[in-house]
Amino acid sequence: VYQILEKIDDNTWDVPVTYKSTMNVPGRIFVSIELMKDLEKETLDQMANVASLPGIQKYSMAMPDAHLGYGFPIGGVAAFDKDEGVISPGGVGFDINCGVRLLRTNLKIEDIRPHMNRLVNNLFNKIPSGLGSKSGLKVSDAELDDVFRHGAQWAVDNGYGVKADVEHCEGNGLIKGADPSQVSKEARKRGRPQLGTLGSGNHFLEVQYVDKIYDDVIASDFGLEEGQVTVSIHCGSRGAGHQICSDHLRELTQAVKKYGIQLPDKQLACAPANSREAQNYFKAMACAANYAWANRQVINHWTREVFENIFGKDIDMNLVYDVAHNVAKLEEHTINGEKKQVYVHRKGATRAFPPEHPELSDDYQQSGQPVLIPGSMGTHSFVLHGTKDSMDISFGSACHGSGRLMSRKHAKKELSGEEIQKELASKGITVKVANPRMISEEAPEAYKSSSEVVDVVHDVGIARKVARLSPVGVIKG
Ligand code: 5GP
Ligand code: MN
Ligand code: MN
Repeated sequence: VYQILEKIDDNTWDVPVTYKSTMNVPGRIFVSIELMKDLEKETLDQMANVASLPGIQKYSMAMPDAHLGYGFPIGGVAAFDKDEGVISPGGVGFDINCGVRLLRTNLKIEDIRPHMNRLVNNLFNKIPSGLGSKSGLKVSDAELDDVFRHGAQWAVDNGYGVKADVEHCEGNGLIKGADPSQVSKEARKRGRPQLGTLGSGNHFLEVQYVDKIYDDVIASDFGLEEGQVTVSIHCGSRGAGHQICSDHLRELTQAVKKYGIQLPDKQLACAPANSREAQNYFKAMACAANYAWANRQVINHWTREVFENIFGKDIDMNLVYDVAHNVAKLEEHTINGEKKQVYVHRKGATRAFPPEHPELSDDYQQSGQPVLIPGSMGTHSFVLHGTKDSMDISFGSACHGSGRLMSRKHAKKELSGEEIQKELASKGITVKVANPRMISEEAPEAYKSSSEVVDVVHDVGIARKVARLSPVGVIKG
């Protein structure tokens, strides 16, 4: 890997445009020498493949948590010209609008320590988790259309949350242009029983506390202070999103032939951004994204109920932010001094918009967007904020986690679930999982170091550290 990359500075490295004859632009990865040791050559090959797609702007980018994905690397960012470029499901991923939300409370860690078992059990019982888990909430086909069309607002309109929640979601918890007629019967069938479920594996609900503040001013803009209890929720669009991705991948594989697009890898199936096929995918992708926002909003509401049940009705639980890390969006960016509309694909990458961006709510105009970076069930998670340089450096994007180090299979072989759970308990972390085998697959050791990843993003200047969170209770699928 070191032999391929050209150093721009300590944390910025390029895959030269000469690496593969098909590349239209260079690749650019933000990574430290330390993290480079865990970077696979195949990830750079995927960056080079993405760089070969029509209409790609500036660079095919990757974040420090990058690793191998379906066609596009996870941790990848790619922007395509609105007219000359393409839209590709592989640049979004199967879990459309997988994302993270962070709730803050007015509780202190000392307030909840004595109640951890009850709290974790109640959360586990209230919020369905595990593969194919079903929700207590059953929506009809007509209601599902409304979920697809209205996203987080649907949930609030139906009693799951308050107006301020919607205002603190990326894009108000909605991608415009969703068209339920582009969603298949099969995707609907999978989506109906799963609204308000966490899913399996990497998806989690975590009770945490703020154990360190890096920036007092911005932390106070976000309502965060040391010792405060927070809750992170990580999940996406469940079976509905997965089915929508599969359905449209099939269509776009046909479109590749129809439009005569040369692909270095068939997993990069795509179509010209303006084409009917690409637009149909986009309309369906927006449905899945909106479903995911409604999903996290419903889970948010049930989390509040569980906390109120134990700690009293008068506690505060405000949404700091909800951000997507698997999505494509039409955005305006300045490229070579010119304002342009581009489809930014962020796959395993978090939007990190700067202060004064018109998309941000009034209360975050000065701070920039909250950027939420989970670590693992045994390590720190981080809150950062978007900077004025992020737009220029990375299309307003940052990393999305610490990134996998071991494959699931490898982790299952190497690590013992029982020992990990014991070790976590000794660190004061209560873990409850639907499937005990998940513990080894999801062990802290299976992930890269979240603090190393976040330091790269901080040093490059695309997002800066605000606060660090320590886990105390985790529920997983
Ligand atoms: P992904 O969206 O790629 O599946 O996962 C996002 C990130 O979540 C991973 O890179 C990892 O850093 C983080 N993560 C996975 N499991 C947990 C967990 O139980 N708790 C926390 N805080 N982070 C996790
Ligand atoms: Mn995710
Ligand atoms: Mn996901």
